[in-house]
Amino acid sequence: MKNRITSLFNIEYPLIQAGMIWCSGWELASAVSNAGGLGIIGSGSMYPEILDEQIQKCKQATDKPFAVNLPMLYPDIDKHVATIIKHKVPIVFTSAGNPKTWTKHLKEHGITVVHVVSSVKFALKSQEAGVDAIVAEGFEAGGHNGKDETTTFCLIPMVAEALDIPIIAAGGIGNGAGMLAAMNLGADAVQIGSRFVASEESSAHINFKNTVVQAKEGDTILTLKEITPVRLIKNAFYSQVVEAYNECKSVEDLVTLLGRGRAKKGMFEGDLEEGELEIGQVSGLIHKILPAAQIVEEIVNDFKTALAAQNTNEKFKF
Ligand code: NDP
Repeated sequence: MKNRITSLFNIEYPLIQAGMIWCSGWELASAVSNAGGLGIIGSGSMYPEILDEQIQKCKQATDKPFAVNLPMLYPDIDKHVATIIKHKVPIVFTSAGNPKTWTKHLKEHGITVVHVVSSVKFALKSQEAGVDAIVAEGFEAGGHNGKDETTTFCLIPMVAEALDIPIIAAGGIGNGAGMLAAMNLGADAVQIGSRFVASEESSAHINFKNTVVQAKEGDTILTLKEITPVRLIKNAFYSQVVEAYNECKSVEDLVTLLGRGRAKKGMFEGDLEEGELEIGQVSGLIHKILPAAQIVEEIVNDFKTALAAQNTNEKFKF
């Protein structure tokens, strides 16, 4: 396939694997890139020397382009940026912060920059900041998300109406039909996270992968908006959050309840009770842990089938 995004990233399919803390290291990123998509290393959970090592391993595992996701909340961000530049990583996805902060610097070093947003307002700010493309992420998405609860179905056409630069849709997309729907709404590509959590190459704990596969519609919720909104599985930790809300606890109390390293505990160490299990609504559509290359192939094949069906299916006939 050839479009603005495949040309921008020099990839085969407009299918991007989301950079996810504790889940997307070099094994997943290189597997997705080798399969024709764009793999992303999620640097938010990596100490600087770990990111350095992960980039080197990714480069050894693939000749194809790959990216690093850089959450601006990361405490040692300067070190991560220096590592990315040192290793000549071609593409960076920035998130959770102001797109003006790092775009110019990264672009001066020849890096393609994409910023993740959840509203038209921040999409426009990103375009003004000079990014090459944006990820527009809807309410359905797993992990950290916008407060406004705008669904992907509404967000993508609104962003497409407002922007000139390429748009990557994220949130609620887990198969080829979803990919086609997002592109019909105005996206140039899709970013998929949850589906790749349940891949063989994801660094998520097997307990978390199994939980994703077993998750049903209604098992996730967007919560903790007072701190950083996050979509997660309703587990014992979430019950404690509900209790805190019922008792009208303060934001400080919520921060104390969350504590440090909840995401690591849940997603990396596999503590299904006390950990934070960040995953999207689309988990209800994920039924198997598969190799990443097979996930890419299935999505692309489903996409082609769904595209062909638009022209032949009875329900689309006038
Ligand atoms: P916490 O504050 O609860 O824990 C920090 C975690 O990050 C720890 O588990 C720690 O690992 C790890 N870590 C990696 N590098 C560093 C470092 N240089 N200093 C301190 N800790 C580090 O944060 P969360 O688990 O909720 O979030 C982790 C990261 O995810 C954040 O630092 C941020 O970068 C990112 N994030 C991204 C968001 C987004 O929208 N993309 C939103 C919110 C957070 P260890 O336990 O081994 O010490």
